Amino acid sequence: MMPKTGHPSPDTPTPEEAVRAGADAGEDTVEETATVVDAVPAHTPRLAGVPASPGAAVGPVARMAARPTLPDRAPAAEDPAAEADRARAALEGVARWLDARAAGLTGDGAAVLTAQALMARDPELARRIGERAEAGEAAAWAVHSAVGAYQELLLAAGGYLAERAADLADIRDRAVALLLDEPMPGLPDPGHDHVLVADDLAPADTVQLDTDRVLAIVTRQGGPTSHTVILARALGIPAVVGCADADTLRDGTAVAVDGDAGTVDVEPDAESVERIRGRDERRRALLAESSGPGRTRDGSSVALLLNVGEGDPEDAAAHDSEGVGLLRTEFLFLDRSEPPTVDEQTAVYTRLLKAFSGRAVTVRTLDAGSDKPLPFVGTGPEDNPALGVRGYRTARDQPGLLTDQLTAIAAAVRATGTRTRVMAPMVSTPDEAAEFAALARGAGLAEVGVMVEVPAAALLADRILAHVDFVSIGTNDLAQYTMATDRTLGSLPDLLDPWQPALVSLVAAVGRSGERLDRSVGVCGEAAADPLLALVLVGSGVSSLSMSAPALPAVRHALAHHTREECRRLADLALAASSAGHAREEVRAAANPEVDLW
Ligand code: PEP
Ligand code: MG
Repeated sequence: MMPKTGHPSPDTPTPEEAVRAGADAGEDTVEETATVVDAVPAHTPRLAGVPASPGAAVGPVARMAARPTLPDRAPAAEDPAAEADRARAALEGVARWLDARAAGLTGDGAAVLTAQALMARDPELARRIGERAEAGEAAAWAVHSAVGAYQELLLAAGGYLAERAADLADIRDRAVALLLDEPMPGLPDPGHDHVLVADDLAPADTVQLDTDRVLAIVTRQGGPTSHTVILARALGIPAVVGCADADTLRDGTAVAVDGDAGTVDVEPDAESVERIRGRDERRRALLAESSGPGRTRDGSSVALLLNVGEGDPEDAAAHDSEGVGLLRTEFLFLDRSEPPTVDEQTAVYTRLLKAFSGRAVTVRTLDAGSDKPLPFVGTGPEDNPALGVRGYRTARDQPGLLTDQLTAIAAAVRATGTRTRVMAPMVSTPDEAAEFAALARGAGLAEVGVMVEVPAAALLADRILAHVDFVSIGTNDLAQYTMATDRTLGSLPDLLDPWQPALVSLVAAVGRSGERLDRSVGVCGEAAADPLLALVLVGSGVSSLSMSAPALPAVRHALAHHTREECRRLADLALAASSAGHAREEVRAAANPEVDLW
C-alpha cells in the first residue's frame, strides 16, 4: 500500500513529476468515450462529478477566479488625490498585463489584446475615473462607477462602439481585482499546461480556451448537457462537471481528471497516473483503426456527422465524417451586439459549405435564448427562460432575423453547390413546422427539417413529418423538457441521463414515425456521442448520428460490431428497463464484448 498523499514515499511522484507525466498523458489523451475506472487506491482523495467530456489528463490546477464583488458600503476616501493615482495605476497595471499576454500570441489574438490594452489607457476613461476619485470615491469604486457610466455611453452609440462595452467590463473587473488585492477574474493564464477549475464556464469563456494549455476542465456546476460540456467535447478536452467539491482544489495542486468516469483524483500517486495513461493507450490503439462511413456489421448505413459551432470550418472538415449534422449558427455570433448582416452571414456560411463540399451540411437557424442569450436577439426578462421565447419562437417578434438568415444560407448554397439541409430549433407544433418549411422553401432551400426537442413535437412526429423532409432529435433539450429538469443544473444529473427510459421511448416513437413515413430521423444531442446508447438509437429507427469530432471513432467502432437486428434487440432492452441505470447495465451486458469500450 502506498502512503497517503502529503507523506510521499520514494515511489510517489512529486506534484511536478505528476504534472510532467500529465503533460505527456495530455498529449497522448484519447478523446473518445471509455468505460469503467479501476478501483482507486484508498489513499488518493477522489472527488466525484458528472462525466462530461471523454478522455483523461493529469496536471496542476489553475482556477478561474470569479469577478470581484465590491462591498455595498465604500470606505470614505481619506486622500482623494492618492485614490485617483491608485485607480489610474490599476488601469495601467491591467494594460501592462494585457500587453504581456499579447506578446505571447500572434494574429487575431494578439490584436484583440493590444486593442484592449489601448482601451485601458484611454485618457478619457482615466479622466472620468480621476474625477470620481477626487470627488471622494475610493479607487475601486471610482473605477467601477466611471466604467459603468462610460459603458452606457458606448451602448447608446450602438454598432462597433457598443461591442466594446463588454471589453470595458473586463478591464473594469481586472482593475477592481487589482485594487482589492483579489485574483484576476476570468480564464487563468499560469503560463504552463493546466487543469482548468471553475465554478462554471460561460460559452464565451470556453471559446477563448487555450486548447494547447488546458489539459482538462473541472467545474463545480453544470449538468451533462450544459453548453460547457458541448463545447469541451467539441474541443476534445476531457471534462468533469457538477463536481461539488471542486472549490476545494487549490492552484498548483496536481490532479488526475477522468472525463469518462467523472472523477478527479487529488495529488494522484504513480499508480493512478499509470492507470489513466494505460487505459488511454489501449483505447487509442483500438480506435485508431476506425475510419470511413458509419455502417452496422450487416452493412446498413448510419450517417456519422459532426456537430459544429465556433472554430475553423476547415479544421472541422478535416475530420473523418460524412458531413455536418448540426451547425449551431448561434455560436458563430455569440459576441455580437448587432445582428450580422445578410452579406456577413453569407460569407460565413459560404466558407463552411465550401469546406464540406461533396458532403451534406445541416444548418440550424439561430437557437437564441435561455442558456444561449444573444445580445442582438431581444427576448426580454423572463422568469423561466427555458420555457420562454427561445429557438424558433424568437421569430414571432423578430421575423426579420430568421428571413435574413435563410436568405444568407440560400445564397451560400447557390455559391457553393454543397448539399445543404436547414432546420429550426425548438419547434413544438405541426403548425410551426409547416410555417418554417414554407419560409425556408420560399427562400429557395430544398431540404427542410425541424428539431424534435420538446415532448409535444415527439408525440406528434407523424404530423410534423408530413410538413418537412427530416427531423433531428435534440436529446439535450428533449431530456430537459421530458424530465422537467433544467439542463444547466449540476444537482440532478440522474434525471438528465439520456438513458432515461422515458427519453428513449420518445426517441423510439419519432424513429418509428420516420420509418413508417420513409423520412430521415437523426439524433444530434449528446446521446449520439455515447457509443453504447448510439446502438439503442439506431435500433429505435434513427438513421444518422451527429456528435463532436472526438466521439466519432468510438461510435463508428461500436456500430461496426452490431447488426441492425442486434441494435433493435438492444433498443427493446433499454425501453423495457425500469431506470436509466438498469437500461445502461442491461444493454451493456447484451452488447458485443469485442467492442471493448464499455
Ligand atoms: C439538443 O438540445 O440536444 C441540441 C442538439 O441542441 P442544443 O444542445 O444546441 O440546445
Ligand atoms: Mg437544443
